[in-house]
Amino acid sequence: MSKKNVLYVKNLNKIYSKNSSKSIHALSNLNLEVKENEIFGLLGPNGAGKSTFINILSGLVNKTSGEVNVWGFDLDKNPRQVKASLGIVPQEVNLDPFFNPKKLLELHAGFYGVKKNERITETILKLVSLENQAGSYSRNLSGGMKRRLLIAKALVHQPPIVILDEPTAGVDVELRKNLWENLKLLNEQGVTIILTTHYIHEAEQMCDQIGILNKGQLVALDTTKNLLDKIQRKTVRFVLNSKVNIKDNSLNSLKIISSNSNELVVSYEKNKLEIEKIISFLGSQNVKINDITTDDGDLEDVFIKLTKN
Ligand code: ADP
Ligand code: MG
Repeated sequence: MSKKNVLYVKNLNKIYSKNSSKSIHALSNLNLEVKENEIFGLLGPNGAGKSTFINILSGLVNKTSGEVNVWGFDLDKNPRQVKASLGIVPQEVNLDPFFNPKKLLELHAGFYGVKKNERITETILKLVSLENQAGSYSRNLSGGMKRRLLIAKALVHQPPIVILDEPTAGVDVELRKNLWENLKLLNEQGVTIILTTHYIHEAEQMCDQIGILNKGQLVALDTTKNLLDKIQRKTVRFVLNSKVNIKDNSLNSLKIISSNSNELVVSYEKNKLEIEKIISFLGSQNVKINDITTDDGDLEDVFIKLTKN
């Protein structure tokens, strides 16, 4: 059984225009869908349009055109239901320093109109491992605890979809792992998670599905596994003067794609083998290399192009 879409956008556009001479096309004809209970990562460098996307979903930014559907509700027709279906965790930590976590969650539940007897404050505090800090002033919480409290805040109305904008930007490694664990736990409880990040590694660790955004355009959209396969395997073609005696795994991770009297095409894993090793292997077999071409249309190049500038 295929999982249902819980969120999709069609031909979504956002143009910011302060004055007529200078407008920024922050999202260009964006199409993507997120399936139930998946962890979806929107990856891209600064300025790619990630926050614009999230802010449209959360109602902070008005889209220029296109369709947004969340949990079966159209953003234009049912904005309140869309809002109720989402828990948004902003990038910036903005907590009132004089409230304790328990009080803050109760207040926030009030904002969302959650009745007292329907609140799950204790459960949420446990989920983000803050049950022991329930009564401490926010200002006394560590950075990590504050981040977790922001996640807790997004959960008070039990939304089926939680969206986090760069949850780990500027967060140290230890805390990052802890956040990932908390998010995985939430996901195991059935919550669909959408996060943005500019760390490739984070997307790899966390996400089932990844969309890569660059300058407002989706340049890749696939399962993490497929994207990683593309990243790690590199293909290279040698033009040779004779057929060479080479087999799969003659060198670590090497795979022969084709081999004949004047051409050898192989693939290998970048982190296990270097092209220099293949070249010296060919040299040791007394074949002459007349030309080398590498497949540079792979995702790594996309990433590099994205993360440069
Ligand atoms: P990201 O979150 O991926 O870093 P943003 O969505 O914040 O990207 O920004 C995308 C583009 O839109 C950038 O060029 C940014 O300068 C521009 N932008 C974002 N917010 C505004 C705004 N309120 N007014 C004008 N331009 C904006
Ligand atoms: Mg951003």
